[in-house]
Amino acid sequence: MPELVDGLDSKSSAFGHVGSSPTAPITPITDPVMDTYARFPLELVRGRGVWLWDSDGNRYLDCVAGIAVCALGHSDRRLKAALCRQLGRLQHVSNLYRIPEQQQLAAQITERSCFDRVFFCNSGAEANEAAIKLARKHGHTVRGIGNEPGRGPLILTAQASFHGRTLAAVSATGQPKYHQGFEPMVEGFRYFPYNDTAAFESLFAACEVEGPRVAAVLLEPLQGEGGVIPGDPAFFARVRQLCDQHGVLLIFDEVQIGVGRSGCLWGYEQLGVEPDAFTLAKGLGGGIPIGALAVKKAVDHFKPGEHASTFGGNPFACRAGLTVLAEIERRRLLPHVQRMGEMLQLLLSDLVGRHPTVFEAVRGWGLLQGLVLRADAGLTAPELVKAAMAQGLLLVPAGPAVVRFVPPLVIQARELRRAVACLERALQELRGAA
Ligand code: PLP
Repeated sequence: MPELVDGLDSKSSAFGHVGSSPTAPITPITDPVMDTYARFPLELVRGRGVWLWDSDGNRYLDCVAGIAVCALGHSDRRLKAALCRQLGRLQHVSNLYRIPEQQQLAAQITERSCFDRVFFCNSGAEANEAAIKLARKHGHTVRGIGNEPGRGPLILTAQASFHGRTLAAVSATGQPKYHQGFEPMVEGFRYFPYNDTAAFESLFAACEVEGPRVAAVLLEPLQGEGGVIPGDPAFFARVRQLCDQHGVLLIFDEVQIGVGRSGCLWGYEQLGVEPDAFTLAKGLGGGIPIGALAVKKAVDHFKPGEHASTFGGNPFACRAGLTVLAEIERRRLLPHVQRMGEMLQLLLSDLVGRHPTVFEAVRGWGLLQGLVLRADAGLTAPELVKAAMAQGLLLVPAGPAVVRFVPPLVIQARELRRAVACLERALQELRGAA
């Protein structure tokens, strides 16, 4: 079975026909869409809450949520009404003008976080691009790092990280498999093992041995694509300390874990460490594309004309963001995510207990949980995800050995019980077939 990344296989298009059943034989098709994704043999055409329907009328319990995007579930009544009203008023104007919805969304984010100002774009990778440019500018202007080749400014990122697919974001991503075939990478990134304080300290010291070279450290508070690995608070506290001592920027990529998914509004709250800047996307728009870079005033280095986006922060996308944040509050989704996250972790731990030869552990925060397969399970995460689909449950792998649960934040207890029961049936089917 090929490895699935971002919910899809990056190397082969082996999943075959749209509209056929998940277990149907695989048939190559001529497709006018480029093969950047090897898609599951499933065409989803309708959604409501945590449920999706395919073009054959089959229903699926959605524990993917567009990979941490559809925070309020599908076809949410209030999001739909707010967006319809916004469409009737104004969809898009240029950032040449002040955009009230953008001002409001920036205010909502800054009032609820440790940040002071926000730049809007359209995706996670774009938000990280903005963060990388900010980091370089910080390196030049604050740390006085020159432009000589090989000197820096450097950005330190973690192995097994994922920061997106644009050239700088993929260069920041500490996984060589995403670089292959696209070299040369953007220079200026160095990688260290996640949560490894000694390795981080020694890389930092090596980079700085002849004077300042490090502009920033870019980290996910919880690594999502890398296998659902929560950050270690002690490690993050040490990173914060070193960054403070040297005037280095600490930037968090909260594209996957931000906006309520962890049970706190922001991932950094789980660690008790404040970054100088963070990036958001996915859940912020509830399904409407939006990305954001939020910064503290002291590191707001951009001047007019230095960074921009045609679509970034348009009235429609910002209305989506405003509605998602308002609904998280109105429906008290943060305590709900905490309760549902605890319950999901318990249900999955019980599953691990019942199948100790298959599963090793459960880990995650809130409604981003990873079920870790044993190395000798004789089964990969993509195989289990595919078998679950045949049982009416959508899941997504996080690498070859972790099955990821990222349901809409509105999921209820009975649906979580059903999801875990479906997964167990899928496992039994696979075992029976073996
Ligand atoms: N950063 C993280 C932590 C992500 O999980 C992702 C996507 O999975 C990205 C960045 C890239 O976001 P996008 O696909 O919106 O560019």
